[in-house]
Amino acid sequence: MPYEHIKEVKDQARITSIETFPDPKTAIVILNQHSGKPLSSIVAVGDSVAIGQKIASSKERISSPVHSPISGEVVKIGTIYNHCFETFADAIFIENDDKKTKAKEFSPISESEIGKTSSADLLDIIHEAGIIGLGGAGFPTHIKLSPPAEFPIKNLVVNATEGEPYDTADERVLIEKTANLLRGIKVIKKILGNPKVTIATKVSKAEAIPKLQEVFGNEPDTTVFAGHFRYQQGDASILQKALFGYETPPTKRSYEMGCIVQNVATINAVANAVFEGEPLISRVVTFNGDIAQPKNLLVKIGTPISGIFNKNNIDMTGIGQVVVGGVMMGHAIPTTEAPITKRSSSIIAFSESKCKNAQKQTACIHCSKCISACPVKLHPILIYSAIMKPDFDKAEKLWNKDCIGCGTCSYVCPSRIPLSSTIMASR
Ligand code: SF4
Ligand code: SF4
Repeated sequence: MPYEHIKEVKDQARITSIETFPDPKTAIVILNQHSGKPLSSIVAVGDSVAIGQKIASSKERISSPVHSPISGEVVKIGTIYNHCFETFADAIFIENDDKKTKAKEFSPISESEIGKTSSADLLDIIHEAGIIGLGGAGFPTHIKLSPPAEFPIKNLVVNATEGEPYDTADERVLIEKTANLLRGIKVIKKILGNPKVTIATKVSKAEAIPKLQEVFGNEPDTTVFAGHFRYQQGDASILQKALFGYETPPTKRSYEMGCIVQNVATINAVANAVFEGEPLISRVVTFNGDIAQPKNLLVKIGTPISGIFNKNNIDMTGIGQVVVGGVMMGHAIPTTEAPITKRSSSIIAFSESKCKNAQKQTACIHCSKCISACPVKLHPILIYSAIMKPDFDKAEKLWNKDCIGCGTCSYVCPSRIPLSSTIMASR
């Protein structure tokens, strides 16, 4: 099938250790980086803030607060491009005072205290630390880890497949933070009532697999599984089918089938929050594409993307397009003044010449490649045509809401029709 041949461009980045990127002079923290209810700022221009201080929140349960990544002064509350929702959005601008003053909002607990800490308290830490799904979806993790009691969780799947063709941030976390992942998994197991654990990775992650086997090999009810996973199998329901052989019906969620899938970076963030008292103020980001030195950076949330190009001495006149969050599921951004968010797993730069030579969109030739390639058995071209009419009732009848935004239909389309982004925007 065509989508089996999505080429990985990871050779250099996957062997490059995580490098800590310097704190920005001005951090731009977007309020709404999660999927859920919107946040309101709880700071004002002129306020001093400390590292890790909560700066925006909501009383609604399905929400996730944001924190200051640096210490300094709030100099502006304005708008900036938010790649999470492909729109301009409210953000808090903080000027760095270089004092690195830390907030004392979080008290870490030790591993020995996990047994006597209630699940509710652990969920509260995860919520207060602003942890959301870092694999791309951005759903608040405390909600994902609170399935209704009538659905006992039998399987926790650690999604270590990282299918995005240019992304290696999770792979480096697997290699360099393996022991921290074990700590995070223990927290999640406690919350979910001790399910079996399957760590699902790809055979191509040659350095990570022995590390995982070394750290998790003697853990009870824990399996490390390295498979020949195709790109889209990072999706929760597809991964679940590949591992356990059953599908989640269109109207159901994975938890209703007794399974919860958690991404590697999210588990790392859970461990940092619980054991280090560190809210989600930084993440590992892959910097890759048509650049001399692909790498993985530990970047503060709110760092302007332009700063990453500047620091790496990259002349922007040679760059035609910058994609954030993966070339398949992410988005091209209109400005590199946009900041890193919790959902910025990667920054991929494409050269001006490559973009100029890119094939332009033409009419559908009815080849049906998009239909054959869709991993959730949708008819992308029919949904796209309904949306373009516009006939949203028809798009819904064609199950547009089941689209997982994997980008495969757009990738295989010989007419370069923007199927995936159009379908995702209609949901
Ligand atoms: S329709 Fe959605 S799920 Fe199907 S291939 Fe396109 S983006 Fe992926
Ligand atoms: S892959 Fe593109 S050209 Fe082929 S049927 Fe789908 S939309 Fe049309």
